[in-house]
Amino acid sequence: GRASAPLATLSQVLRLERSRRTAIVFPLQKLERYLAPGTDTARFRLFQPGLAALQRAETLFRSDRRHPIDYVSSAVRMDHVPPPALPEVCFIGRSNVGKSSLIRALFSLAPEVEVKVSKTPGHTKKMNFFKVGKYFTLVDMPGYGYRAPQDFVEMVEAYLQERRNLKRTFLLVDGVVGLQKADHIAVEMLEEFGIPYVMVLTKIDRASRGLLLKNVLEIQEFVKENTQGCFPQLFLVSSVEFSGVHLLRCFVAHVTGILPAVEAS
Ligand code: GDP
Repeated sequence: GRASAPLATLSQVLRLERSRRTAIVFPLQKLERYLAPGTDTARFRLFQPGLAALQRAETLFRSDRRHPIDYVSSAVRMDHVPPPALPEVCFIGRSNVGKSSLIRALFSLAPEVEVKVSKTPGHTKKMNFFKVGKYFTLVDMPGYGYRAPQDFVEMVEAYLQERRNLKRTFLLVDGVVGLQKADHIAVEMLEEFGIPYVMVLTKIDRASRGLLLKNVLEIQEFVKENTQGCFPQLFLVSSVEFSGVHLLRCFVAHVTGILPAVEAS
């Protein structure tokens, strides 16, 4: 198997000095100190688990013989999807937003899991299902562009509308470029269906602090003014540095009901 990346585990992160540790575990909170005085920071710390919850979430994402994490199957139509036996989360986003990298980072402690990439144009776009022990399933939805083929749009819409066990949709947005036309279309779709979702800003290691702060504030404002179903706190991640990955694991565990009460840190 693959060796796990340097900061893939909390025990590795805990060896860092305090400010670096905060940047990796709570990247959004790290930005707070650069806000203008008086800015309302409530949306920066709605989900703020303590170490115990973060550690519990990490064990869920670590596979072993009694807790296998596996690719289950792929589907192009709703009649091919696995039965809705477990709570489910799905990840959607534009092609190239960093979705496969993020799912790989989340599953980095389960090196046998293979996250497929279907980059080739014309390659059939599938929904890929992963099972995390007996706890939940995670679905890697095909990347969309804003001129997605009709059958693809129908598949994604049918899934989002019909999937009874879907607990939360994670909409990935590029943290360097901010909301694009295709992202707005995705937001409109999620709003129309009235399902709960959360925005995840990717590739934050590539944005300067100023740019990241600007994108975060703009997107927060957009969420506040234009959405009903979006969780008010943004999640910031870097799949390269593992920032935000530990927190996201914990949020997934939380929304799938495994960590119902997450204490504040
Ligand atoms: P997908 O099409 O959404 O699955 O995107 P990928 O995960 O394949 O990522 C697209 C490109 O962005 C690749 O070149 C990745 O190496 C790069 N990338 C993805 N995530 C990150 C990240 O967190 N930081 C940086 N610097 N690059 C990233």
